Amino acid sequence: MPTGSPSTPTAAISRRHFLQATAIAAGTGLAVARPKAGPKVRTVLGPVDADTLGVTLMHEHAPVIDWAELFELPPAPIAPVRKQMLDTSIRLLERFHKTLGKGQGPGAIVECTPIRVGRYPRLLVDLARRTKVHVIACTGFWCEAMAPQHPWAIALGQKKNGVRKIADLYIREITRGMEDPHGEWGKKFTKIPVGIIKCATSTYLRPSERRCHEAAAIASRATGCPITTHTTDGGGLEEAQLFLKRGVDPGRVIIGHQGNLDDRTELESHEYHRRLVGMGCNVQFDRVGHAEKYGNEKIARQVKALVDSGHVKQVFFSHDNGPYFNNDYAGTKGSDSDWKITQSDYTVVTTGLVKAMKTQGISDSNIQAMLVSNPRRVLAF
Ligand SMILES: [Zn+2]
Repeated sequence: MPTGSPSTPTAAISRRHFLQATAIAAGTGLAVARPKAGPKVRTVLGPVDADTLGVTLMHEHAPVIDWAELFELPPAPIAPVRKQMLDTSIRLLERFHKTLGKGQGPGAIVECTPIRVGRYPRLLVDLARRTKVHVIACTGFWCEAMAPQHPWAIALGQKKNGVRKIADLYIREITRGMEDPHGEWGKKFTKIPVGIIKCATSTYLRPSERRCHEAAAIASRATGCPITTHTTDGGGLEEAQLFLKRGVDPGRVIIGHQGNLDDRTELESHEYHRRLVGMGCNVQFDRVGHAEKYGNEKIARQVKALVDSGHVKQVFFSHDNGPYFNNDYAGTKGSDSDWKITQSDYTVVTTGLVKAMKTQGISDSNIQAMLVSNPRRVLAF
């Protein structure tokens, strides 16, 4: 198994991590402008200065999600549709890029597809090379909300010091590069870096999910890497409490999929969001455009409450879109025909939601802070 040195204090290792990240960029053979000293955002093409991102969509899935391995089935092959996948994703991201105004370009997406559910590192590099939009990948395992957890996560977690073993995998991906998802679990790694840790819970936190959260806490403390979460109609507060109890900097924690039934009861959980930001964590409305459950006006009202209570610096946005999706595990044949093409629009945040927030009376400078400054701050480490 990979090893890390998570007991080393963050400050002492940050320079080493920076040098490793620079080496990763060199290893990819890509032309990456030499960044200034200090914290960096780890894109799939290497580290960049945070002020080069522009508007950042904090939770997307361009180009693919594939749950097949969660059901111990072979993933749908990407080779026959690879070009089409890239062309589609590039076209959709260019549309997002074109919506950006002054001081908002070139734009960035955080690609939140976790380990072995359609996270193809080289596909992400090819995507990033062909679009103006920056691409930031994640480490982490998905949850048991709508499918079983990945058998690799379960196998690691059940070993002696299982949490430590999962943490070591996350740290290795952060400092040295993502696992290559072809072949046996954990046998091959790329030099393509990740820039965030993904965590996920079912409606109620399950034992295997808890282990992944504990591992994320260790990895975040060791590297300074931010954590972004999936919640399932509730569970954000439990996630936040778990991370804080384990010493994670709350400013590094982004509680995701907010905007509907977040406290398991209310369609708009204003008090619940206030508790999360009161703990120092961030609240992310990342299903913008997903029907009326996450409609623009509804999200804008919840954002307005946070802005009015002085928490504009703790709000983030995205769409949680993925153009190619294989989730029909029952009918999976392990062929390219398993791919479903979903309607993915990456422009709702920067068009419809911005308009709705202005209607709510949120100022341009506060909107710019949430779209540009907040991601810049949280993604740099
Ligand atoms: Zn997602």
